[in-house]
Amino acid sequence: MDCDSLAIFDFDDTLVTSDSEVIVNKSDGSSQRLAPSQYAVYQQEPGDEFDFSEFDEVRGAQPTPIFNILRKMVQECGVDSVLILTARHLASKNALHDFFSDELGVNLVGIETVGTTNSSAKANKVRDYVMRLRPKDVHFWDDTDDNLQALGKMARTSPDFKGIAVNLYPVAAGVETGDAVVISERQLRRIIRETMEQPIPQWPEKHFAWRNVVFTKDGDVRYILDVADPETVQAAIDIGEPFLPGTNVIIIKGTHPGSEKVYLHDSDLLDLIQREGWSKRPPPPEAKSGFWDGKGNWSEDPVVISERQLQRMIRSVLQEI
Ligand SMILES: [Mg+2]
Repeated sequence: MDCDSLAIFDFDDTLVTSDSEVIVNKSDGSSQRLAPSQYAVYQQEPGDEFDFSEFDEVRGAQPTPIFNILRKMVQECGVDSVLILTARHLASKNALHDFFSDELGVNLVGIETVGTTNSSAKANKVRDYVMRLRPKDVHFWDDTDDNLQALGKMARTSPDFKGIAVNLYPVAAGVETGDAVVISERQLRRIIRETMEQPIPQWPEKHFAWRNVVFTKDGDVRYILDVADPETVQAAIDIGEPFLPGTNVIIIKGTHPGSEKVYLHDSDLLDLIQREGWSKRPPPPEAKSGFWDGKGNWSEDPVVISERQLQRMIRSVLQEI
């Protein structure tokens, strides 16, 4: 990270773990304590009242490994290069300020308390800073997915972020969990479309019959439709080429389409093979997997992705965002 960057850090469960908890006062008079990570996934019930007062102070805060990134950035690039962006309320600001000056030995200027867990609040605040400071890139650490998502979406869609690289770092309990893959809905649709548009072989390309291409001694192409293969018979019927009575093989003489078709009984086949000197051609040296097509050209096997594979891909993409 160079000093043209702006490094932005969430506080709770990103820079520190602490003893501060949210108190939920329930409508039946009972109460419940939630750590920040529990609060993030808590399903609010009717009558719940939240008490965030423990977050107005910094209780038993333990710096996490992410804190070292902050420390290094401040040492190398100064206090202007970092921003603390927390959902804590304004009332916590003095306590945060004191905490950082104790830990870092310097006063941080950028401590923003948005006072809400609404993810757009953080994204909007980042935009304010980006417009004012115009950093080359932004690095953002947060343990709440919604915040990462909201900033990622804004960075992709807002012209205010044009030319500024935004790097998102998901965090769990103060440790980076890997680079965020930020994929917009549009990008995901494109991935799916491109996947679907992989060349899907048409008949006869996909058909087994094409895999029976041979070459005559003159270099001409022959391919064989064999009645012993029910798939071939069906394919022949599908294209209006039913076998004539007393025959069980069709030889296509030359390149498809429009070449001469010869209906044979397989007992006559050997004679034709010998007369024309049929042989198989080995694959070209650089070939991976494929076949000689009905035009005598080598054709690589297309990548065909099954619906299940596609679902798995989409699922894994969705899990990462
Ligand atoms: Mg947090």
